[in-house]
Amino acid sequence: MRPSDLLCSRPQGLYCPPGDFFIDPVSPVDRALITHGHSDHARSGHRSVLATQETLDIMALRYGEDFAGTTQAARLGETINLNGVSVCFHPAGHVLGSAQIAVRYNGLTIVASGDYKRQPDPTCAAFEVVPCDVFITEATFALPVFRHPPAEDEIAKLLRSVGQFPERSHLVGAYALGKAQRVMRLLRDAGYDRPIYIHGAMAKISDYYQSQGIDLGQLEPATVETGTKADFAGAVVIGPPSTFADRWARRFPDPVSSFASGWMRIRQRAKQGGVELPLIISDHGDWDELAATIKETGAREIWVTHGREEALVRWCELEGLTAKPLHLIGYEDEGQ
Ligand SMILES: [Zn+2]
Repeated sequence: MRPSDLLCSRPQGLYCPPGDFFIDPVSPVDRALITHGHSDHARSGHRSVLATQETLDIMALRYGEDFAGTTQAARLGETINLNGVSVCFHPAGHVLGSAQIAVRYNGLTIVASGDYKRQPDPTCAAFEVVPCDVFITEATFALPVFRHPPAEDEIAKLLRSVGQFPERSHLVGAYALGKAQRVMRLLRDAGYDRPIYIHGAMAKISDYYQSQGIDLGQLEPATVETGTKADFAGAVVIGPPSTFADRWARRFPDPVSSFASGWMRIRQRAKQGGVELPLIISDHGDWDELAATIKETGAREIWVTHGREEALVRWCELEGLTAKPLHLIGYEDEGQ
C-alpha cells in the first residue's frame, strides 16, 4: 500500500481512511487523536478523543470538562487497535503530555510527530526516536539561521539582568502552556528561589504542572489588587506575550521587556516587538535538531508540515530522501 492510502490530507486535517480517524483535526470530527494541548492542535467539539492523560487534562482545563463526547487516555508505548490499524503514542518532548503518534498497518509505519524538540526540558518527557517508513515532521524553525542555544544560557542572561537592575521588574513573555512553566523550572534549576509572579491566564495550567510533580516553586499572582508598583521592584513577572500591550503590563516599575521564543534569534523581530532582553528558548526543534531527527528515524520518506516546508523538503532531497510538503491548514502554533 502507498503511504498516502494510510494517512492523507483532508480539509479537517490528517486523516487515516482504513482506521477512520483524524490526527489533530482543526474542525469537529467523529474520532480525533490529539498530539498535544496547544490550541491549534487540540480543539473542542470532537465526538471522541484519544490522547495522553495529560493532554486530556489540559484540554479539560482550557475548554471545560465537556470538551468532547467521549475520551480515552493513551498510555505511552501502548498499542491501540482502531479498525485494524495500530496506533501508539510516544513522547515528543514539546510540552507536558505531548506525543508523537505511530500509525501501523500492513507492515507500513508512519509517525506523525506533532510539534517536537530535542533540547532537554525538565517539564516533560524527552523525545523518543521511533523508527518508521514515513516521518511527518514540523518545520516551524526549519531554516539554517535558526539554531537555538542551550536554554540554561538564556536563563543565565535573564538572571544577570535581574542582578544588574534590582529596582526594575523583568516582564517575561512566554506562552501559557509549556513555555511559561519551562522558564519557571529553569529559573529554579538556576537557583532562583524568590516568588515568581504570573499573569492570571497561566495560573490553572501552572497549578496543573505542579500537581503532576513538576515543582515550579512559589508562584504569586501578578495582580494590581494584591500589590503596589514597589512590590514588583526586582521581580520576575511572567505573562502571555499578548498581554504586554495591556494595562496589566503598565503596573510594573520600569519593566525590562523580555520574550522567550525561538523567534528571538531574529534580532529584527525582537526590535520590532520592543523586546529589550530577547531569550532564545524554543519548544520546537531548530534546524540541526530537525535534520538529525529525520536521519535518526531511518524513514525513507519525509512529509513536512506547518512552517518552512520548502527549505526542509529541499534538504531532504539533497540527502537522497523522498520528501513533500504536507499542506495542512489552520496550524499557527501558539507555543513557539
Ligand atoms: Zn505546539
